[in-house]
Amino acid sequence: ADTVVPIGNHIDRWVQSKPDEHAVSYGTTDYTWAQFRTRIRANAAAQVADGIRTGDRIAFLDKNNLACLETTLAASLTGAANAVINFRLSPDEVAYIVNDARARIVIVGSEFADLIAGLRDELPTVERVIVTGGVDDDYEKWIAGASDADFEPVRFDPDASFLQLYTSGTTGHPKGAMLTHRSLGAHNAAAAVGFGFTPSSVNMVAMPLFHVGGSSWSLAGISVGAQTIVVRDVDPSAVLDEIVERKVTHAFFVPAVFGFFLEEPRVADRDYSAVRCLGYGGSPMPLPTMRACLETWPDADFYQVYGMTEMSGVFSVLGPEDHRDLAHPERLVSAGRPLPGVTVTVVDRDGNALAPGSIGEFWVQSKQHMLGYWGNPEATSKTLVGDDWLRTGDAGLLDDDGYLYISDRVKDMIISGGENIYPAEVERVIIENPAVADVAVIGVPDEKWGETVKAVVVLADDASTTDVELIAYCRERLAGYKTPKSVEFLSALPRNSTGKILKRELRKPYWEGRTLHS
Ligand code: ATP
Ligand code: MG
Repeated sequence: ADTVVPIGNHIDRWVQSKPDEHAVSYGTTDYTWAQFRTRIRANAAAQVADGIRTGDRIAFLDKNNLACLETTLAASLTGAANAVINFRLSPDEVAYIVNDARARIVIVGSEFADLIAGLRDELPTVERVIVTGGVDDDYEKWIAGASDADFEPVRFDPDASFLQLYTSGTTGHPKGAMLTHRSLGAHNAAAAVGFGFTPSSVNMVAMPLFHVGGSSWSLAGISVGAQTIVVRDVDPSAVLDEIVERKVTHAFFVPAVFGFFLEEPRVADRDYSAVRCLGYGGSPMPLPTMRACLETWPDADFYQVYGMTEMSGVFSVLGPEDHRDLAHPERLVSAGRPLPGVTVTVVDRDGNALAPGSIGEFWVQSKQHMLGYWGNPEATSKTLVGDDWLRTGDAGLLDDDGYLYISDRVKDMIISGGENIYPAEVERVIIENPAVADVAVIGVPDEKWGETVKAVVVLADDASTTDVELIAYCRERLAGYKTPKSVEFLSALPRNSTGKILKRELRKPYWEGRTLHS
């Protein structure tokens, strides 16, 4: 039997049991569950009035905004999907996604209205642009103009996608992952257990809503009746203050934001006693930053999450006990164990399962996987394989106790003289050198070995070292074939807007005109 529950039913349930309690907050605005439901249905009625039908896409471009969540939840009632766009993208990249989604409506924050206006001729599918925020606030007029009284949701389809999130574009063009009632429902259930969300939780959504860390994290809280705090601008000290004032119990940030928190002079002087769960993930957490976090928040429960857009969010978690387990300090760099309902296996290049301790690609089996990439069946068939299995494209290993250790992207692996080298292992050694502020390790072409290891290094302020010294430092700590043969110094590493290092850009000048193994 199909047990997938529409997300709207969860909201109805909380409206029945606690209509006048806070459901969502955005800046100084708070809506009760009853008000929130009315706004979602008004948005849905407005979509229908504009001719939006099953399968249509609405594109949303703004910083975090409650209207984005409302549009997603409304789309779950109209059969459409909200395609949320990263607001840090360039105009060309925004146009790429609006056109990829074939969006009929664009809802845009007033800060980005000029950007969309400037692109208007390049967006042939867009029939209407609605501005949210600012003095006129078309969005408020749009939903106020539609009556939800005679609104009827479409017939429920568990495999309808109402949220389309784009991958970060670390390894190529962003791809639109179609997330569905089924996939997000499975994620909600797993996340509720994994992070201990309850109806009395206060869930801060500071991660961008264009990312699963924002959108899926908020849906996980909403589905269990938690209060949601949508944060628009991530100003570190304001966010820390809001955690205290709103008695936030659950919050999630990328490692870089924890880095900013640590630089805040009064970070440790606040009362964080309401906090139950501090999540982080999305990219590797540097060990020195993690150690500093554990010291700064001695009582906090840290959760490392490993997830991806295609999995509707997180599928493996390193829990609080493991963060302070003195018997297993190595687990601090592990991505934890699979959530309930998730099976992870490590396979070789031919798809054969490997024994614990061997490095291969993580394949994940669960109901959390996307329906597919929108308009890209070829990429979908390479990623979704067999019976609810998804290929992550990440390389790593499982240990005897079932803990996952991510090494790298499969695409970033270096093969030198037939030996597999995982850049992350080399990076972990180099980052411990006090002269080094940031590092990326890549493979560069080599006549004799096929590829050799190159370290791209950003020096710490006032530090100085040479390539010869760094190579010697590595040679003492790593096998010969893993030791970098050359070092390049840069003032900063190229990163995408979620803070991930763009290795394809670092590799490009060396590989021009050649093909890299894939
Ligand atoms: P694209 O798929 O377009 O190349 P992307 O993979 O960076 O971009 P996301 O779906 O946002 O897009 O990111 C998922 C990836 O982030 C994972 O496959 C993994 O490589 C990395 N990642 C996620 N969580 C962690 C973590 N806790 N530690 C290390 N890496 C992580
Ligand atoms: Mg990816």
